[in-house]
Amino acid sequence: MAYELPKLQYSFDALEPYIDAKTMEIHYTKHHQTYITNLNKALESYPELFEKNLEELLENLDQIPESIRAAVRNGGGGHFNHSLFWETIGPKSSNGPTDSMNKLISDSFGNFENFKADFTEKATKQFGSGWGWLCQDNSGKLVTLSSPNQDTPLSSGLNPILGIDVWEHAYYLNYQNRRPDYISAFWEIVDWRSVETKLK
Ligand code: MN
Repeated sequence: MAYELPKLQYSFDALEPYIDAKTMEIHYTKHHQTYITNLNKALESYPELFEKNLEELLENLDQIPESIRAAVRNGGGGHFNHSLFWETIGPKSSNGPTDSMNKLISDSFGNFENFKADFTEKATKQFGSGWGWLCQDNSGKLVTLSSPNQDTPLSSGLNPILGIDVWEHAYYLNYQNRRPDYISAFWEIVDWRSVETKLK
């Protein structure tokens, strides 16, 4: 079955003033949709791949036929990354990480502030388009990293649980060149309950 845009759980203006409604609308209906369209188009030449789930495709890119591998990496990665992004942000809430999430963060980074600084640095320094990530590694420990383009940590054997899109299309209308301001606003809209559900 062809991939479709997942339903957003909030309205385009629900993340204001941290992410403006126009950015949300264009980002979701145009950018995310384009990744999905390109993924579907690539898989049409190998329809049996529609039977695997997206995570499986991205975890095993080397098994994708070479003629569509880049399209699956970009379109499939874009679809997966954006779906995770929409799910792990939401209208501003006062709840931070739960106690168990906080413990996991402290075990991995020392404390929450260290984690935040680490994640912020990775997201800020990603040169050009890409993502900043919080992931779980094979041992269950949390790590931060950045990735270029639409490359997803799934393809490196990691389980991404929180990501920030640092492509300019994610913030340019409201923040122009001020990526650090956008990253700092991001913390206000992280939905920690949803992040926790991504742990394996
Ligand atoms: Mn994006």
